[in-house]
Amino acid sequence: MKAQIIDGKAVSKKVHEEVKAEVEALKKRGIEPFLAVVLVGDNPASKVYVRNKEKACAKVGIKTYTHRLPQDASYDEVASLIRQLNEDPSVNGILVQLPLPDHLDEKSLLELVDPAKDVDGFHPYNLGRLLSGNPTVKPCTPLGIMRLLDEYGVELKGKEAVVVGRSVIVGKPMWLLLLERHATVTTCHSRTADLSFHTKRADVLVVATGRPKMITGDMIKPGAVVIDVGINRLEDGSLVGDVDFESASEVASMITPVPGGVGPMTVAMLLYNTVQAARRQNGIED
Ligand code: NDP
Repeated sequence: MKAQIIDGKAVSKKVHEEVKAEVEALKKRGIEPFLAVVLVGDNPASKVYVRNKEKACAKVGIKTYTHRLPQDASYDEVASLIRQLNEDPSVNGILVQLPLPDHLDEKSLLELVDPAKDVDGFHPYNLGRLLSGNPTVKPCTPLGIMRLLDEYGVELKGKEAVVVGRSVIVGKPMWLLLLERHATVTTCHSRTADLSFHTKRADVLVVATGRPKMITGDMIKPGAVVIDVGINRLEDGSLVGDVDFESASEVASMITPVPGGVGPMTVAMLLYNTVQAARRQNGIED
């Protein structure tokens, strides 16, 4: 293996320490950051994610409470809970764990979250601010990736960046954040005609497709920085990314592992966004 490992666990620990210090400072001013989580149904992966988020909050001193609704909860029930949390002055951040059960209209429910408490950064108002170049909150996964790139001194200005995936959660905001930092960004998706033509041009390659090991070493430019967002559970129980780590790490100069790369950063940035929301709601400037 040639590539240097980008250690998301180590960087996330650093973010945890920073957030913890901010929480302590806020508590001295009588402010206790509070994240409310909405978990609907019994999706096992969602339950694990929520538990991890609760644990991370506890570690840095952020108060958290998970509202659990049954799998068959109605739109009105979820909507009324979100409205109640919007109104509650003690709640600084609201996280609606995705995916929601199929019968619920995810987009319209996310739009009900008060943008000031939208710590995921998925509300159209916050995405619009990001697009207009005046962001308040940035989606956790792309924000965490930017922090990883910065921690490892990856130069972006003038570089070719390729993002594979165009979801609202990862691909699209990733494109914007890289563009903001003066990379030349190409976005690929399932209808891209010649995927490897694009991936092979990338100095920085971000992959978020949900397709296990789909990017192989022969699709990567020698020396590229490879960020693997994917989290896929194989039948044998192992966890793999969207990049074939073995072949990719022979070609790349730096690469994120799965697990231990982007995943811990997403949780860390959720903590960061919650504290920033608490600061803003209390009129504390950056
Ligand atoms: P989505 O399913 O919402 O989006 C997947 C994207 O990949 C789509 O834009 C799709 O294209 C594109 N795609 C699918 N197949 C191909 C292909 N063969 N070639 C090129 N593009 C393709 O997924 P998410 O963005 O939500 O998540 C992606 C992955 O990242 C998942 O594994 C998820 O578990 C993981 N994830 C990890 C996080 C972390 O913290 N590490 C956080 C969030 C997600 P099209 O639009 O044309 O359908």
